[in-house]
Parts: sequence; structure tokens; C-alpha cells
Amino acid sequence: MSCPTCGRTRIDLVGIANEVEERLRGCKKNIKVAVMGCVVNGPGEAKEADIGIAGGDGCGLVFKKGEVLYKVPEERLVDALMEEIEKL
Ligand code: SF4
Repeated sequence: MSCPTCGRTRIDLVGIANEVEERLRGCKKNIKVAVMGCVVNGPGEAKEADIGIAGGDGCGLVFKKGEVLYKVPEERLVDALMEEIEKL
């Protein structure tokens, strides 16, 4: 899932969502992954997701069920998400 985007969106949401989808192809885990446009509301709006990321302005957050795990530079966002998904 990804957020509907709005004026707060701080990342290339469509690009990132596509990349995540691409990299999760073949992943058989029954999990809900969220890609959210901003760090302010993203984690809260994606509470029901097992894992997710929110951008940006150069850095983003990785969160799990609405709880922020840590902050990463924007270019590490998708890699960090993949690492967390592997751990689930
Ligand atoms: S997560 Fe942020 S960018 Fe996405 S819809 Fe919500 S407020 Fe807007």
C-alpha cells in the first residue's frame, strides 16, 4: 500500500512504491508493506501495515505497525525496508 499523497508528500512516492513492488516480486510473506509520503503522518496513517517507510527531505523513517524504528538517509530507505522485511 502507499498513501494517497498530498501537499505534505516529500518523496517520489510513485517511483519508490514501484521499486518496492519490483523488489518484493516473488516474496511470499503475507505482510502489509506501506510506502508513505511524509514522516509527520505516514507512520500513524499506516498503523495497520506490518512494516513501512515514510519520506523524506533527504531522510526517511522505517516503521513497524505505526511505531518508528529508526531514521535513514533517503537513498537507503528502500534497502532498509527490504532488510526489515527479511527479518519478519
Ligand atoms: S502520509 Fe503524509 S503525504 Fe501521505 S497522504 Fe498522509 S499526510 Fe499526505
